[in-house]
Amino acid sequence: MSGRFDFSVEPPENVWFNGKLVPWKEATVPATAMGASGSLAVFEGVKAYWNEQRKNLYVVHLGAHLRRLFESMKIVRMAPPIPLEHMAEAVVALLRANQLRQDTYIRPVAFYDGVKLPSFRYTIGQPPELLIATQAFFTHLLTHKGKKCAISSWSRISDNSQPPRVKCMSNYQNNRLAFTQANLDGYDDAIMLDERGKVTEGTMSCLFMVRNDVVTTPPVTSSILEGITRTAVIQMCREDLRLPVVEREIDRTELYVSEEAFLCGTGEEITAIVTVDRMPVGNGEPGPVFKAVEQLYHDVVRGIDGRYADWRTPVYE
Ligand code: PMP
Repeated sequence: MSGRFDFSVEPPENVWFNGKLVPWKEATVPATAMGASGSLAVFEGVKAYWNEQRKNLYVVHLGAHLRRLFESMKIVRMAPPIPLEHMAEAVVALLRANQLRQDTYIRPVAFYDGVKLPSFRYTIGQPPELLIATQAFFTHLLTHKGKKCAISSWSRISDNSQPPRVKCMSNYQNNRLAFTQANLDGYDDAIMLDERGKVTEGTMSCLFMVRNDVVTTPPVTSSILEGITRTAVIQMCREDLRLPVVEREIDRTELYVSEEAFLCGTGEEITAIVTVDRMPVGNGEPGPVFKAVEQLYHDVVRGIDGRYADWRTPVYE
């Protein structure tokens, strides 16, 4: 699996930094702030899809992503410097200012500057710096072949030590260890188990399986990031595809005998899992539930299908 992000793309013309549009080159953090500004950061990954026919860009689930960012800030005791609504306006203003007319990844970050606040001990209740950056991405919806996944020997972090519900940069060391091990071992991605050995999620995505015709996903208390795409998939399965959906614990061996399995997330989009630990899932090809979910998700986020209008924030109208 590759090609979801093109790292050779130009940086954005502007970023939004602490309330202002700033040319990308000028939005800098001192080198000595590096460790703190990265580790003491919470962030979001949001996507906007371009609709060529309507000549419009749709930001997907903007409100839900910003709500999660504000929840992350609350849990780590950052004082939000601006209201959520202002941040939503800032995202749209930035996309307009950069005149983006292509699929775009948007990254809001709230972080402590390690020069002004050189230790986490000074940060309690302080307002963070706020940055919003943009980057082109290339969708793999409706094009990909599916992922070969390994069950990782790294355990997923848990709510009592480093809560996965918080989308903070430092959590991703856990995901990186699992992904790197899987990748070096010849897999496309890893599925992580919690400390009790129950299935949690992929390294940047939530997980679904279809078992005995029931669409099944671990609950939000299973050491997962509370995925926004996960909620969308549950809703589409129930309301549009008329499929039963259950949120319950999943054992690793259930994946081996499931009819289908797939991953979902903003960056991940919807991706079939074709093997787990080299065992084929179903017949080893993307299955019918996955294909129906992928098609509907594609049509909805791009605004081809008018359903779920409240998921889309139009940038140019
Ligand atoms: N889990 C992890 C660890 C992730 O990084 C992501 C991507 N944000 C997800 C799940 C999926 O979340 P969402 O659908 O909100 O993007």
